[in-house]
Amino acid sequence: MECAGSYPVEVRTHTALHVLKGAVVKVLGPGARWTASTYVDGSHGRLTVKFDRKPSPEEIRRIEEEANRVVREDLPVEVVVLPRRAAEEKYGDLIYDLFPVPDHVTELSIVIIRDRSGELWNINACNKQHTASTGCIGRIQVGKPRFRRSKQLLEIPFDIEPDG
Ligand SMILES: [Zn+2]
Repeated sequence: MECAGSYPVEVRTHTALHVLKGAVVKVLGPGARWTASTYVDGSHGRLTVKFDRKPSPEEIRRIEEEANRVVREDLPVEVVVLPRRAAEEKYGDLIYDLFPVPDHVTELSIVIIRDRSGELWNINACNKQHTASTGCIGRIQVGKPRFRRSKQLLEIPFDIEPDG
């Protein structure tokens, strides 16, 4: 699929956060499943998750490899809008980040990426814009992580390839 350039770069970088998060949880395990914050500036992004240690260079290499495999496989990025209660019954707190969705929100956009076998790669309540498939993101390059021990926060910076 040829789509680099047909989305604003921030949409591609934001969608990369979902793909990267799936790779982080796959490599580091469920202990890394709570997103504390995210940051997007042009083709640069940063994912911050709760975690208890700094990953090894090998783990970071595998995270980058897994994320780029999902980009290459060009998997659909599904968005389903559900009443909040139904979404919680179906998916539990998998859809949530560390900081809660405000109580007054009664309907959620759930962003779902499934791997080739149909298993959930990433699921998250998110009302931002996304690319239609992971192939539109372009290659993801993961930078050097920073572990903030006192806060138990792991920051993973990344860049996506510029429009080509
Ligand atoms: Zn999103």
